[in-house]
Amino acid sequence: MEYEKRVRRVVPYVPGEQPTRTDIIKLNTNENPYPPAPEVERILHSFGERTDELRKYPDPTCMTLRKAISEAYGVGSDQVFVGVGSDDVLAMSFLTFFNSEDPVLFPDITYSFYDVWCDLFRIPYETPALDEDFRIRVEDYKRPCGGAVIANPNAPTGVELDMSALESIIAYSGDRVVIVDEAYADFGTVSALSLLDKYENLLVVRTMSKSRSLAGSRIGYAIGSPQMIRYLEDVKYSYNSYTMDRITLEVGAAAMRDEAYFKETVAKIIRTRERLTGELRNLGFKVYDSATNFVFARPADGDAKGLFERLRGEGIYVRYFDKPRINEWLRISVGTEAECDRLIAFLKG
Ligand code: PMP
Repeated sequence: MEYEKRVRRVVPYVPGEQPTRTDIIKLNTNENPYPPAPEVERILHSFGERTDELRKYPDPTCMTLRKAISEAYGVGSDQVFVGVGSDDVLAMSFLTFFNSEDPVLFPDITYSFYDVWCDLFRIPYETPALDEDFRIRVEDYKRPCGGAVIANPNAPTGVELDMSALESIIAYSGDRVVIVDEAYADFGTVSALSLLDKYENLLVVRTMSKSRSLAGSRIGYAIGSPQMIRYLEDVKYSYNSYTMDRITLEVGAAAMRDEAYFKETVAKIIRTRERLTGELRNLGFKVYDSATNFVFARPADGDAKGLFERLRGEGIYVRYFDKPRINEWLRISVGTEAECDRLIAFLKG
């Protein structure tokens, strides 16, 4: 076709499967197995009588949600940026802060959306290899570059980088932005938020999809200096001013305020994760200590693909990545106790 030479072609990210079948055990996209905070249900019901509100555009500044987030972390609302899942927030951040000829750095094995955004936005990048235990080699990040993105804990490995190592990278990178993607940090990692007062080049990105049980509402946020947030907002308002709808803004704020429920569900998931890790190890799997709501596990015979397919046949969905270095591994989201029991029972089979 004549027009094709002008098409922006990209190789897209492939999201985990969302099957329409409901009779399956779904451990493939790191969703939370527990429902969102009870107040969320009340808000959704209240919209039964408030549908008229949907005639009007939502608040473009998303202030209700930003306030709830800023109060939870003790930062100013001018330090909070929100978006349609952390995917949206990360994409905006790449577009905003990675605008140079120098390559942005992130590990060879990490969240597989990072290279897609770089390709989409024409951002040069390099991917230093993790060591054989999937750990970041800190020295790889201490070199001239256009910035860095570090998922902590990392995905899909679940492996955590300790705070002093992370801080040394941020400290070294004074004149470029380091994005720390804390999608899973609520499940046991020390947050880089404590470093925000010290480093102006740090942006911490988080999500309500995992620890707040709201993957279906698509809410992500970034916390950084007021100046960084202003830069992000300028890009957002140059693209789509109304990113979040009226219902989601209220739902997210309610979920953020219920600290007790949040702590309770996170603690349950951590307990199940530790049990699942132990059971898998007893069955001969290699499993890294996880600081997330999933485990990364290698069956003794390395045939992760075969096992993935056998599990699928049983209606147990996990995630398999057919990629170099990780094609003998499965990523298994931590479900309820009962769901994990079913998985273990099948493996013991
Ligand atoms: N970062 C990482 C490391 C992830 O694994 C995910 C989940 N796919 C995301 C960001 C995006 O999550 P969400 O858009 O649901 O906030």
